[in-house]
Amino acid sequence: MTKETFAFQTEVSKLLDIVARSLYSHREIFLRELISNASDACDRLRYEAQTRSDLIAGDGNFRIVLELDDKSRTISISDNGIGMNREDLIETLGTIARSGTEAFVKSLSDDATSDVALIGQFGVGFYSSFMIADKVEVVTRKAGDEQAWKWVSDGKGDFSIEEASRAGRGTTVVLHVSDEGKEFLDKYRLETIVRTYSDHIAIPIVFADDKDGKSVNAASALWMRPRSEITEDQYREFYRHAGHAFDEPWMTIHNTVEGVLSYTNLLFVPSTRPFDLYEPERKTKVKLYVRRVFITDDCADLLPGYLRFIRGVVDSEDLSLNISREMLQHDPKLAKIRSGLIKRIIGELKKKATTAADDYAKFWEAFGAVLKEGIYEDHDNSEAILEISRFRTTTGGSEWVGLQTYLERMKEGQEAIYYITGDDVAALRSSPQIEGFASRGVEVLLLTDPVDEFWVPSLGTYKGKPFKSVARADTDLGKIKRQDNGAERPEPKNRNDLDSLVASFKLALGGAVSDVRLSQRLTESPACLVAGEGGVDIRLERLLKRHGADGSMPTAQRVLEINPDHALIKRLGSLANDGGEASATVSEAAHVLLDQARILEGEPIPDPMAFAQRLNAVLQRGLGG
Ligand code: ADP
Ligand code: MG
Repeated sequence: MTKETFAFQTEVSKLLDIVARSLYSHREIFLRELISNASDACDRLRYEAQTRSDLIAGDGNFRIVLELDDKSRTISISDNGIGMNREDLIETLGTIARSGTEAFVKSLSDDATSDVALIGQFGVGFYSSFMIADKVEVVTRKAGDEQAWKWVSDGKGDFSIEEASRAGRGTTVVLHVSDEGKEFLDKYRLETIVRTYSDHIAIPIVFADDKDGKSVNAASALWMRPRSEITEDQYREFYRHAGHAFDEPWMTIHNTVEGVLSYTNLLFVPSTRPFDLYEPERKTKVKLYVRRVFITDDCADLLPGYLRFIRGVVDSEDLSLNISREMLQHDPKLAKIRSGLIKRIIGELKKKATTAADDYAKFWEAFGAVLKEGIYEDHDNSEAILEISRFRTTTGGSEWVGLQTYLERMKEGQEAIYYITGDDVAALRSSPQIEGFASRGVEVLLLTDPVDEFWVPSLGTYKGKPFKSVARADTDLGKIKRQDNGAERPEPKNRNDLDSLVASFKLALGGAVSDVRLSQRLTESPACLVAGEGGVDIRLERLLKRHGADGSMPTAQRVLEINPDHALIKRLGSLANDGGEASATVSEAAHVLLDQARILEGEPIPDPMAFAQRLNAVLQRGLGG
């Protein structure tokens, strides 16, 4: 077959372009990326060989070989790993395989300088070769195949593939070093880079011209080495390799469990949110090893979805190597490891939460919304997760408040943990629904993550205290003393007026609300909308509708609450009591107040034209028109 030419996926071209301009001062990472890929390729073959030993027959010594040629100005990186066939090449070295990454690259602007930080966190893998090379050749032969293939590209828009020959299985990447990259044509420089970035790689990395074949790296699994012998830098570089990550680890959890079940875990919490965190699959990424043999990085049962931000490896001494990945997932031993890992991770997070609150806040801002999924998904650990959950609150300012602190600050007579849900903290802080709570100094949790709509109702209580939405009509503030200058509400003198007003409003609004009531909670605003008793929370209803659940769901029963102390309500009350001509005004006011309350709830108003007309009519009357 002759040479075929393919175009890079658009996103790849864009990425190559941005990388070339923005990562200039970090060019040495090309070697780390290529070695990382070579090591992954060996890991994958070692696993396949568990059931097909013929794949590694005659060459069971995995290694990565570096070769430098001054004359031809090339650097080559070879491995005897799994190799690639023609389809693999087209699929992986011409597209951006990871879906989250593809979306990310699409979102990048064309202004390279502003994207440097982003690129740095996300990494460019194989394509980083083009930072120092103006031509890259990949000669590769898949384990078990006879045919080898050559992939060639100058990184400018297309690549070619043709048949080739190769002595054994594996992959050789040949970099034709560009003028900008010529400082890397130096063995000492390359050695230093390997020690800096790739020392943790578990297989030997050797130079082709070294007669004794001594490896440049330590060449043993990092997680099996004693903690005291591992430096921060080594942990970081291992994290980047194992997690395909490019930021700093926020926390490192490295320990060995011995007993009925023995395993070692080296886990990391990233410091920044990975781009695919909110992919619907919610895949976990931790690599599973059995006695140093890589098994999979796609093991759904190793960690629950709500810990999908965790990176690193788990290496078990007890799982069987001779069963398939699928079978392994159902091994009860794996379930034990899983629950041990969850406890350990939550325990370490708790330590941070109590000893380093500021640092913990950074973690919480990045991953809190994901961790909270565990509150309703993982019954065994929901209490522990709640304990390390943090919230914005009405009285906490910019502080992240834990529930323990909330309980300690509860007011006399307060029996529930109050919360309000909405789309953003600032809007919630000015919601009329919390006015009565503010006047009593009662703290209200401000919940803004979509996941909050699910765990709160599923949970009910924390340490015996019920969670209660301020948007529910049954909230009783009468038992808690006011702390502002406002007096407790005596039986109003204008009781008759108010009763007439409530009756007129009900009549005017008909089925638009299930009830109209005098409010305990309002101190500043004339009216607000709340969910009726037993009704679905207003925002939850909206969320479910957005997800297409509307058909099956009854519409929430809304209650319009009006503030008996508000001047406008008092005035309307006396008009309602007068009856006669004024009742048209009262009826218009009822609709305007309802629409206004809807707007404050962040809801669309059903008939904006009617709203505008009523408002105009009311204004005109006010102006004596
Ligand atoms: P990543 O390693 O994060 O998947 P890369 O851009 O580094 O992304 O590599 C892309 C893909 O190309 C790899 O996932 C792998 O399938 C393939 N690949 C790269 N280098 C090799 C290699 N030396 N041997 C086998 N496959 C490789
Ligand atoms: Mg890679």
